[in-house]
Parts: sequence; structure tokens; C-alpha cells
Amino acid sequence: MTKQLIAGNWKMNGSLAANQALLQAMLAGLGSPACAVAVCVPAPYLAQAKTLLASGAISLGAQDVSQHEAGAYTGEVSAAMLKEFGVRYAIVGHSERRQYHGETDAVVAAKAQRALEAGITPIVCVGETLAERDAGQTEATVTRQLAAVIAATGPRIGDIVLAYEPVWAIGTGKTATPQQAQQVHAVLRAQLAGACEQAAGIAILYGGSMNAANAAELLAQPDIDGGLIGGASLSAPDFLKIIAAAR
Ligand code: PGA
Repeated sequence: MTKQLIAGNWKMNGSLAANQALLQAMLAGLGSPACAVAVCVPAPYLAQAKTLLASGAISLGAQDVSQHEAGAYTGEVSAAMLKEFGVRYAIVGHSERRQYHGETDAVVAAKAQRALEAGITPIVCVGETLAERDAGQTEATVTRQLAAVIAATGPRIGDIVLAYEPVWAIGTGKTATPQQAQQVHAVLRAQLAGACEQAAGIAILYGGSMNAANAAELLAQPDIDGGLIGGASLSAPDFLKIIAAAR
């Protein structure tokens, strides 16, 4: 792992005016970060963000991608379309998509594959619910979710970014402890090592209430290679503090 990656996930937030203010404040305060930085914006704002991020200091990401290539899929956005807007990353399998939009492991795996085919790095999200954690099913859940992606992508699994996002920590203010997160990251790293030779170089991000106060401790863990940041990515000062905590 060379550089950590700090990726913002704006979710369904923003407006033309708010996005401009946020990105300009981020760019103004960014300096020369040690880590790589990305923001995953709602699809209608890709063109605006592409223009505002033309300097390349912050990479552009999408929050989803269709598993279909093109055609009669009303409302879907294809990987090729994202590519036209300079998108470098696409989140796939976020727990909000799995929960509210019925995305199965197979759909998530197909989306990761589509992104890779288009030259976009999928940020594949895995994570257990509170019920699964309480039932001792954390490892079984995340390894099942990752196994589907490994099966679909084959050796190209080495080109993904993985994000461990415990569902109970997302937007709740309840962060996994650095030890809890590290433990799951190590399991995921071992699973990747069984599937490809580049496992040590695959970024495994932590996501779930990461903020300016807890980022440094999480990012210091040996198998945590960055963060996927929801709420705190909507504030330039907070997001910049997380970036400053990364290496
Ligand atoms: P959060 O969201 O930082 O607001 O918990 C993280 C995510 O859902 O990616």
C-alpha cells in the first residue's frame, strides 16, 4: 500500500451552490496531502464536479453504477457514461443500496465487474448489520459478500478498492473501535491474499462514522488503508482534518 485513500461519500446531499462552496473550500485547504483524495457525488452533479476538480488534486467518484451495459434500463447510469465525466471511482454495494434497493451479492459483483471493464475502480462495500454482529456472523457476512465479487472479477480483484463499513456504524455516530475494524480488515486481507497476488496493495478502507476526532486512530491500524466518509465529508474543515490524519 503506497498512499492511503480518503473518499467522501456525499450520498443524496448537495446543490449546485453547496457543491461549489464545498469543493472550493476543500481545494483551498488541501495543500499537498500525503494521501489520495476522492469525492463521490450524486450523478447529476458529475459534470459540475468534473469542472471544479479539473486540477486533478481530488479524484471524482460516483456512488453507484449499473450492472447493465446499455439499453432499456430506465433510470440507470452506465459505467461508460460515468467514464465520460472523468469518474475514477464508483462505490458499489453500499449498505444503503443493499438495504433499500434490494441489491444482492450477485448484483454488487456484476456492478464491480462493469466498473472494472470501463476502467473505473469500484469501491466495493461490505459490512455486517448489528444483528449479524450480535449473532457472531461478522466474518461470515463480509467474506460471503467479498467472495461474490472475487468470483465475478477473477484476477481483476487486484484492481478494486474494498471498504469495510459495519452497517451499525454508518451515520449513527457509533464507530467501530480501531481494534474491531482492524480485525475485520485482516480477515478481508487474508481472503484477498487467497485470491490474488496483489492483496497487500489493495486498499481496504474503513467507513462508518469516521470523523476528524477518530480518524487518526483508525488510520493508524496496519490493515486500514483509508476511509470512506459520509457525514464528515460534507464539511470542508472536517474532511480536511481527516485527510491530514492520513498517510
Ligand atoms: P458515515 O457514512 O461516515 O456518515 O457514517 C459512511 C458511509 O456510508 O459511507
